[in-house]
Amino acid sequence: MPARLPYLNARLQGYTTTIFAEMSALALATGSVNLGQGFPDSEGPEELREAAVAAIRAGHNQYPPGIGIPELRQAISAHQLECYGLAYDPDEEVLVTAGATEALAASLLALLEVGDEVVVFEPYYDAYAAVTALAGASRKVVTLRPGPEGWTFDPAELEAAVTARTRLLLLNSPHNPTGKVFSAAELELIARCCREHDLLAVTDEVYEHLVYEGAHVPLASLEGMRERTVTISSAGKTFSVTGWKIGWACAPPELLAAVRAAKQFLTYVNGAPFQHAVAHALSLGSRLTAPLALDLAERRDLLCDGLAALGFLVHRPAGTYFATTDLRSIGEHDGYAFCRSLPERCGVVAVPSAAFYDHAAEGRHLVRWTFCKRRETLEEGLTRLKGLGTGQ
Ligand SMILES: *Cc1c(COP(=O)(O)O)cnc(C)c1O
Repeated sequence: MPARLPYLNARLQGYTTTIFAEMSALALATGSVNLGQGFPDSEGPEELREAAVAAIRAGHNQYPPGIGIPELRQAISAHQLECYGLAYDPDEEVLVTAGATEALAASLLALLEVGDEVVVFEPYYDAYAAVTALAGASRKVVTLRPGPEGWTFDPAELEAAVTARTRLLLLNSPHNPTGKVFSAAELELIARCCREHDLLAVTDEVYEHLVYEGAHVPLASLEGMRERTVTISSAGKTFSVTGWKIGWACAPPELLAAVRAAKQFLTYVNGAPFQHAVAHALSLGSRLTAPLALDLAERRDLLCDGLAALGFLVHRPAGTYFATTDLRSIGEHDGYAFCRSLPERCGVVAVPSAAFYDHAAEGRHLVRWTFCKRRETLEEGLTRLKGLGTGQ
């Protein structure tokens, strides 16, 4: 249970500590290889970093416009058109934010009334729950479960999650932590649910370019969805620069105006020189993104094959930075106990997936590992894991 903080308002009690803070502190204290938190331990593309340096030298160091610099809004608009055939007016339908996190927060704070409900798939990214709570709304979760065809959900559970109070559906694809890329058929089910119940959709697509099998399809590209969807992404994962915090939202003018109204009182603006650099990077098409995805696919295989050789049942991801293992394959059952003892047992940190569930029993035996680290880091982690003696 997270600590109760005496001065903290009731909405945020229950969200005082994250599993990442606990596990990263453990990693530091024990000198462990951190395969928990999903940030790369290598540099993003040099061309991108040099573009940021050039932007600072060129004097782009004061407040940028509230909706983002025109070059970046144009680049985002062109990106959505080229990649997905979605046309967004760069002046009315694109908003630059402080990472995807701010775009998500601004969207939920802007679009939800106190007492509204949000439908979200579990396991879910931790910020969704906290921001929904901040907005005074509550969540209804639909559980993703691994099956022979990968992770999927029961359409009846989705239907049952919608009530008269439901205002919006929050979708993350490619999905953290499972690595699932929602299929066209699943997206159509979700879109139909939104249309039939007149729900708004907010989509978190930060892993859109980190897809190793199948293809990413934005929910907004389905029939009747563009008009009701806020599509969110970020440069952090796409270009391996998670510290830059340049994200964006695309939506029709009235929806975007609402998100923008909330955003202006969160950060106001951020990252002027980084906005210039990201505009440049996006304009290069797949020249920077494709090699990163290929490289990550290889590291996915390195980690997944290594874990499988150690006796773990591995749910190999179709996208993202993360793989999930089922501990029952090595005779263990409790992800929290496993992850809390792992640094001591062999000097490796991973994250218990139960932290991402409302129905903790669904994820009790699951553990999330990241492969967005250098090969040496992954190999060192796997070597240390041999010390667990799980091998077959
Ligand atoms: C990393 C991550 C984010 C945060 O993106 P920023 O651009 O760093 O704010 C949002 N959603 C998911 C699913 C993520 O994994």
